[in-house]
Amino acid sequence: MTDIAVVGAGLTGSLLACFLARRGHTVTVYERRADPRTGGAERGRSINLALSERGLDALRRLGLADRVLADALPMRGRMIHPVAGDLDFQRYSLDGQRAINSISRGALNNALLAAAAASATAGVKLLFEHRLTGLDPLVFATPSGEVKATAEVVIGADGAGSAVRGHLLGMGLLDESVDVLDYGYKELTIAPGPDGDFAMDPGALHIWPRGTSMMIALPNPDKTFTCTLFWPNGGTSSFASLGGPAAIERHFEAVYPDVVPLMPDLVDDYRLNPVGLLGTVHCGPWQAVTPGGPVGLIGDAAHAIVPFYGQGANCGFEDCVVLDRVLDETGDDFAEALPLFEARRRDDVEAIAAMALANFVEMRDRVASPVFRLGKTIEHA
Ligand code: FAD
Repeated sequence: MTDIAVVGAGLTGSLLACFLARRGHTVTVYERRADPRTGGAERGRSINLALSERGLDALRRLGLADRVLADALPMRGRMIHPVAGDLDFQRYSLDGQRAINSISRGALNNALLAAAAASATAGVKLLFEHRLTGLDPLVFATPSGEVKATAEVVIGADGAGSAVRGHLLGMGLLDESVDVLDYGYKELTIAPGPDGDFAMDPGALHIWPRGTSMMIALPNPDKTFTCTLFWPNGGTSSFASLGGPAAIERHFEAVYPDVVPLMPDLVDDYRLNPVGLLGTVHCGPWQAVTPGGPVGLIGDAAHAIVPFYGQGANCGFEDCVVLDRVLDETGDDFAEALPLFEARRRDDVEAIAAMALANFVEMRDRVASPVFRLGKTIEHA
């Protein structure tokens, strides 16, 4: 039994805690936020995810898939919205039955936190409002001051801007490069229709491909859709180019005419919701041995990718499965398992990072091409 500190109780950290507890380890999860199960989402940061087979496989291994899918909506294809003309549904599988699943990141995180909390008797402790400020030794900033901690192994599951990675970098134990995309994203909402039902088909992932910009929409159980608008950060056609309410309305009426009547809060959402950053994190190695013991990185902390293949969280979940497997193979020797995890995982993660960037071009442009209109089907792993 090893005493492990997992830093970050996001999607990857909370799932990892469940896997490690099942192996009999003592796990303390340190999270800088307050417990999200007790509060609402930040404005414009709700994010709904496409959960696909890779992620579901990880959840099934812990008996969590049915519980998570209860809050999800299956999307069996993508619906292309041209500026003018007919909608075009492109199914994801030949039989039209395979689906990716729309789920709110918050709902998914809360379900995984509940599962981790339920592993308490198996040795999981969740500590919120603990922000990692020192790695060796472990130090956390909390509302009541600085707290020191010890652990035999530290795993950084603290996301794209990982503090654990930052400390390893500072100690000269890792190199990193972060490719920030010159596109950002903003969330907007499609309200339910006048009859209270979905205003569009809830069985599809909706895409408005517009070349230099793109919008997507995923359905939510409350009959709304969360839209994500991807657009350059600067320049004449960019988030910065729309000044006041009239310019916002004019732009949407010209570029996304069919959604304007479905977005009663368009102007407020556009003006008040933040523009999020997108990028790819390349770093290595994902593990090191510090004087305090082995330290590893997992999920976005090791390999954040752009969201256009809908695989970031799925990839973090798959990381947990691979780490669980190498722990089996090494008899839970973390000093041996962490390098083996990296060796097994790196090629796959670099491949999906490149595919995610390539899929941006496909989604914002090629899905509207005649090839796809002839009924091509698209497979998502
Ligand atoms: P995070 O979710 O970032 O969690 C990290 C956690 O660590 C957070 O809770 C944070 O508060 C905490 N933390 C950070 N710093 C510290 C610190 N110093 N001390 C303690 N705690 C700390 N993925 C998909 O699979 N499918 C999709 O369809 C999809 N769509 C996306 C759409 C958008 C617009 C975006 C931005 C992302 C999308 N993703 C998608 C990617 C997905 O959201 C991420 O890959 C996933 O959230 C990564 O999980 P994580 O737990 O590794 O990191």
